[in-house]
Amino acid sequence: MKQLYGRIGVLLLLLCVMHIQVLHAQPSKKKFSVLIIDGQNNHGNWPQTTQLMKGYLEETGLFTVDIATTPGEKQDMSGFTPEFKKYNAVVLNYNGDVWPPATQAAFESFVEQGGGVVSVHAADNAFPEWKAYNTMIGIGGWGNRSEKDGPYIYYDAGNKLVKDHTPGIGGSHGKFHAFQVKTRNRKHPIMKGVPEVWMHNKDELYDRLRGPAENMEVLATAYSAKEQSGTGRDEPMMMIIQYGKGRIFHTTLGHANESQQCAGFITFLQRGTEWVCSGKVTQKIPADFPSENEVSLRK
Ligand SMILES: [Zn+2]
Repeated sequence: MKQLYGRIGVLLLLLCVMHIQVLHAQPSKKKFSVLIIDGQNNHGNWPQTTQLMKGYLEETGLFTVDIATTPGEKQDMSGFTPEFKKYNAVVLNYNGDVWPPATQAAFESFVEQGGGVVSVHAADNAFPEWKAYNTMIGIGGWGNRSEKDGPYIYYDAGNKLVKDHTPGIGGSHGKFHAFQVKTRNRKHPIMKGVPEVWMHNKDELYDRLRGPAENMEVLATAYSAKEQSGTGRDEPMMMIIQYGKGRIFHTTLGHANESQQCAGFITFLQRGTEWVCSGKVTQKIPADFPSENEVSLRK
């Protein structure tokens, strides 16, 4: 009897070891497929930021990344018809001419049906006349945006989220400078484990953004100091928006190459993209994440 138990024990142990080996031997999980769109931008460094972001996403091991580049300004756009449906998410590094109606419709249906979107910096300047797009990004700036497009969104001195319908321009920024970013929802998967306040490398601190702001939550803000020609209020830096079944992560950060080389920018690009793909974030906060008062760059 004893011997039998012993043999069963050995057998169970063997099964365990085999199981563990099988788990380890499993081919790595299927990666999320991401499409970066670029091709026109008032930021001439767009070819470089596309490559930076492609690298940041790929180095996580979570994503495969394709790039779709539109024709240049005022060129024939009719052939720009990316197959959005092939992808889990689209990263927008684009601020230029309107897409053909069929491409706009395909993009709307992609997001409605659950496709993810990441809007980076000047992508929230794009398409001021495209209603669905502005609903997806929540708030935007420039392109004659004004009170007709929705309220200003910011936090007041009492840390209360304000929807301000005051008439005026949408979108401006003060001096290019390093500034602190403040987490507003530390429980959200994208923000979990992040310090409450961290120092972002030099960037444009967007202010006075306005838009429909429907189904939108502000995840982080930055104080737009009057000494830096800002607004004197806490302006939204990162947001999430729900559009149909689709999730959108909107970061206003990322003007210059050095803005995108900030370990904070990189961390949220990676985490935000995973979240729009799956609703989850499995990545750890990196050891070089910026501290409250010091920037952290990856060159
Ligand atoms: Zn910029």
